[in-house]
Amino acid sequence: MTSSHIRKFVITTLGVSSSVLLNLNTPGVTQALTTFSSLSTTTNLSTSTPLVQPKNNNLQWVYSVAERVIRANGLDDYPWRFQISDEYDPNAYADELNKIVIYKGLLDQIHGDDAALAFIISHELAHHTQRHFAQQEEAETNLKEKLLKEAKSEIVQEWRKSNTPLSPATKDVIKQRIIIQKKQEFERTMQALSRQHEFQADEIGYTYMVKAGYEIDAGLRVLNLFLRLPSDYTENSSHPPTQQRINALKQVMNKYLWFSLWIEGNERLKNNPQSLKLDISEDGVSLRINSRFVSR
Ligand SMILES: [Zn+2]
Repeated sequence: MTSSHIRKFVITTLGVSSSVLLNLNTPGVTQALTTFSSLSTTTNLSTSTPLVQPKNNNLQWVYSVAERVIRANGLDDYPWRFQISDEYDPNAYADELNKIVIYKGLLDQIHGDDAALAFIISHELAHHTQRHFAQQEEAETNLKEKLLKEAKSEIVQEWRKSNTPLSPATKDVIKQRIIIQKKQEFERTMQALSRQHEFQADEIGYTYMVKAGYEIDAGLRVLNLFLRLPSDYTENSSHPPTQQRINALKQVMNKYLWFSLWIEGNERLKNNPQSLKLDISEDGVSLRINSRFVSR
């Protein structure tokens, strides 16, 4: 789902309706963060032990998993923002600068499965790190410009081809036909790019998740969950059919030696053992996982 300035990379094949996002200033969330900070003090975040926090609520859960994935992959140069949408949809998407929105319906359906959450978060992190949002905006602008130019010259050429003068109505028919062709070409090209990005986010997301030490089958579990939903897959869908994503992910799992990934991530976690700090973002509505440069 896209708009001129907000493009959402939805992990499922479902559409995204406008979301009522959880406001962090609501009493429940404030309480959760307060509880969390008292837990943080008592468990001493400066030790090298990976975070094991009680999962009293979704924010704590998202934080504990996301923080580990971010650190294990060296993605802690900048802060990340996480927002939990209050709708019961099985969705998640990458949005705006370093922001990830996860729907509470999705969290509910994978409740307790840390590795599944790690895959979802990793997939969305990959959309950001691979610049998918920017790439699609750039491709869209360039393609529009190119197709418009082509359309103009093709229209004029067709008008000139005729030996007899064309009526304004015939001219208009030719013009409309070429415009429709170019629009279809635009949609096909953008769709192909978007699907390519989904496969790439699954692949890179898989490596992020495994480097953070999570169980390798979790991505398949998440995609199999989507397979049970009535799919909104159509030929025009921005997402590939879930079954294709499952097949591609199986190939990815064969392509990488999970053990090497795990060793690489584990090394990074050992060298950077301090958990990243947690705050409310300046946007007032999302959880901010700080970069490693925030003082310990
Ligand atoms: Zn995606």
